[in-house]
Amino acid sequence: MSDAAANVSCERLVALLLHYLEGGLDAGTHAAIDAHLAHCPGCLEFTSQYKKTPVICRESLRREMPADLRDHLAEFVLGQQRQQQQ
Ligand SMILES: [Zn+2]
Repeated sequence: MSDAAANVSCERLVALLLHYLEGGLDAGTHAAIDAHLAHCPGCLEFTSQYKKTPVICRESLRREMPADLRDHLAEFVLGQQRQQQQ
């Protein structure tokens, strides 16, 4: 394990987690987080829960809005905008 790996605290891991999962970190920091996860069960659990969250959100938003509801909503929003412009 490198010094950098040993220096990632749990707090720092949480702060960097989104960037880590999106692959936005430099290789050294990414490797440091990998190393931290290898020896910190708490962060490993947190990371696995964190990864599931967007999946849960996508699943719950997958339903299509019925066409008539969408049309009514569009009419309502356009009507509100017209009223505000007058
Ligand atoms: Zn940790």
